[in-house]
Amino acid sequence: MVIGSKAQYQRAIDKAAALRLYAGVETARIRQWTVRSESGDRSYTVRLNRSGELVCSCPAGVAERPCKHGAAIWMARLRDSALGTSTPAPAPAPAPVPAGELPVAPRRTERGVIRTEEEERLLDQMYGPRPAN
Ligand SMILES: [Zn+2]
Repeated sequence: MVIGSKAQYQRAIDKAAALRLYAGVETARIRQWTVRSESGDRSYTVRLNRSGELVCSCPAGVAERPCKHGAAIWMARLRDSALGTSTPAPAPAPAPVPAGELPVAPRRTERGVIRTEEEERLLDQMYGPRPAN
């Protein structure tokens, strides 16, 4: 399990961005990638484990710390999903309901319906303030 503070992850991402490591990412297999080291003389293998964590073969990765190679894969995957090349696009948002077709909101005055103030405020935001009694 990779354990790191938010700052450690941020440093790894900053390094990967500064070195443009994501440009040297190659897909080796499904859920496995190869990243060239910044010196270019070797490469590391990053894989996505069953917990959804990116695990790297570099010294930091073996020590279960966030590393720039994992960050590079994370960035490459983010880029690919933004381009729609690897992961499917999210389902489209439901069409907005035309103003005239809003369902009638049930109100506190209805028999047996009791709502919290918060719920009432939410309903007021959605449907407008209820008429004064
Ligand atoms: Zn690494």
